[in-house]
Amino acid sequence: EHIANQIAAGEVVERPASVVKELVENAVDAGATNIEVTVEEGGLELIRVTDNGAGIAPEDCETAFYRHATSKITSGRDLFQIRSLGFRGEALPSIAAVAKVKLVSSSDDTGLGRQIVIEGGTLKENGETAAPQGTDITVRELFYNTPARLKYMKTIQTELGHISDCLYRQALAHPNIAFTLRHNGNTLLQSPGGGDLLQVIAAIYGVNTSKGMVPIEAEDLDYRITGYIGRPDLARSNRGGMSTIVNGRYIRNQGLHQAILRAYHTLLPINRYPLVVLMLDMHPSLVDVNVHPAKLEVRFSKEPELNGFVESSIRSVLNGLVL
Ligand code: ADP
Ligand code: MG
Repeated sequence: EHIANQIAAGEVVERPASVVKELVENAVDAGATNIEVTVEEGGLELIRVTDNGAGIAPEDCETAFYRHATSKITSGRDLFQIRSLGFRGEALPSIAAVAKVKLVSSSDDTGLGRQIVIEGGTLKENGETAAPQGTDITVRELFYNTPARLKYMKTIQTELGHISDCLYRQALAHPNIAFTLRHNGNTLLQSPGGGDLLQVIAAIYGVNTSKGMVPIEAEDLDYRITGYIGRPDLARSNRGGMSTIVNGRYIRNQGLHQAILRAYHTLLPINRYPLVVLMLDMHPSLVDVNVHPAKLEVRFSKEPELNGFVESSIRSVLNGLVL
């Protein structure tokens, strides 16, 4: 069991940002409206994620750290129609195998909850504690017991960059959730929650979004597109400003990127990339999210149709702009 967890950890927990991603996804899945992430030293020293979601029942807190203890799949069929972000039940055991973890969670408003401490996969504590409803997980000294892995970590700035990218993606995918990211005492992101995507875009990119970003809305039988596309003068020197969110999940797909770039083709010089946040909604059977364990890459079952629809929808918005 210990060994299995350390092996799984190698796949799930590649770097501090992987921990942040898994913990934030759990908080999102738990229905939180406020998620606060605090990290120190690029996450290698400390990662703390606090949410106001449903919390974990006292009797389930310890089991959440056992492999495949997911509460999110109830039948084999569910695997084909995944709506929640996590579904493998591997994150918590994998993280706890390679760090010192403290979990405090309460699933009601009695003011009481459960505190679990696990270090390197070994349970140190499981007891009652005072806690508001929600979950608060602290991960210290990541990779302290796997020095080989620790050696591969890049600079604090690099690790922090991956962490903030992760938070940006989550904030864009969930404008209804307030996200905060702090690093060594500095606030790096504060998205307000409340559902206004434009405010999230402003918080992340610091652009004058009301002037530069134009709403897009289009629908056919299979797909619904909403979100914002940037005027050409907001173009950037890299693809980091192109975001695609499918059924509430931030994804990356080469075909979609190309479709967006084709729509902007005549408006942007080479090596300039638009600021675009596209929300795509479709029936879950039209998208396969299980392609990659990191769940960022997806595959679409009717790829040419989708890409064509995205390209033409963006182009018709751009055609209507006074440039
Ligand atoms: P998965 O997300 O794939 O189910 P995890 O290892 O990430 O597996 O989490 C295991 C279980 O612990 C989840 O299914 C969920 O029931 C519970 N859990 C983890 N984090 C939270 C959280 N922040 N709020 C509520 N429940 C949580
Ligand atoms: Mg999870």
